Parts: sequence; structure tokens; C-alpha cells
Amino acid sequence: MNKAVFLDRDGVINRVEPGKYVNKAEDFKVLPGVIGALKRLKKLGYLIIIVTNQAGICLGKVTDQEVKAIHEHLKKGFEKFGIAIDAIYVCPDYSSDRKPKLGMFVKAIRDWNIDIKESYVIGDSLSDLVAADTLGCRSILVKSPLSPTIAANLLEASKVIENETKNSNNR
Ligand SMILES: [Mg+2]
Repeated sequence: MNKAVFLDRDGVINRVEPGKYVNKAEDFKVLPGVIGALKRLKKLGYLIIIVTNQAGICLGKVTDQEVKAIHEHLKKGFEKFGIAIDAIYVCPDYSSDRKPKLGMFVKAIRDWNIDIKESYVIGDSLSDLVAADTLGCRSILVKSPLSPTIAANLLEASKVIENETKNSNNR
């Protein structure tokens, strides 16, 4: 059996802005450190599998063909660094494939003979973590403009609220 790292796309591999859809390869900005991270994971023997919700397709914000073109561009870009993305699963709508539902993961596990207990999910949103939890898989949350805030403890959480309250009062 194989072990895999399932990666969310937006906010993990590329920069995200709330409410914006990436529909051109030029707008797909790979985040710092991604190349090094993927090289490390490959060296450790993990399959790299991207699992991405792209409901913008069914909403008409981006076409299926545009998403495919972006992913071809992405794969070619990583190949230049000697990194092979093993697979990319896209959910274009609100079906049972959409994270936190497990459709894409179930397909990937079957297609690649994956041992989920040896695998990880890395994402920037709770839907990624909920999927991992349901699968019984380890997960790691990365920070993005769309991710929930993580505080070291309640004191730090209260400071986050204090800052945000003051900022919203100043508007
Ligand atoms: Mg994301």
C-alpha cells in the first residue's frame, strides 16, 4: 500500500483572496516554500495528491477547461523542479465529492491503493480537517486569509478578539 499527503489547493499551494476565483494560470501564485515542501514529502516517499473544491465551475465563475489548463500549467511548473504531482481531484459542484464529504478521497484511496493511517491531509479550512477526521487520517492546518485563527491559548485568543474589536471600532 502507498502513503499519501492530500493537499488542498487554494491557500495551501497558491495564494487566496476571499471571494476570488483563480481562472487564469497567470493569476495562480504559488506560495513561498511550496517547492521545498513538496520535494521533502516526495523524498519521504509520500504520494502528492491535490484534492480541491472548485464550486466556481458550477457557479460559472471559472470553466472546467480553465481549471484543467491551470492544473497542466501547475504540473509542468513543478516538473521543472523534479516534482511529480501524482494526481489532482477536482469537485466542480456541491455533490458528495465536495469536502468535507469524502468522495474525492474515496476515489483517490481506491485509485492509488492508499493506506489512510499512514497518510496526511493538509488544508487551510475546517472542511479539510473534518474530512481527515472522518477518514481517520492525520491532518495539519496551515494559515491563510481564509483559515480560522489559531491561538496558543485562551489568553492569546482574547487578545485576538481585542485587536479585531478595536480595529472594527476604528472603521
Ligand atoms: Mg483552501
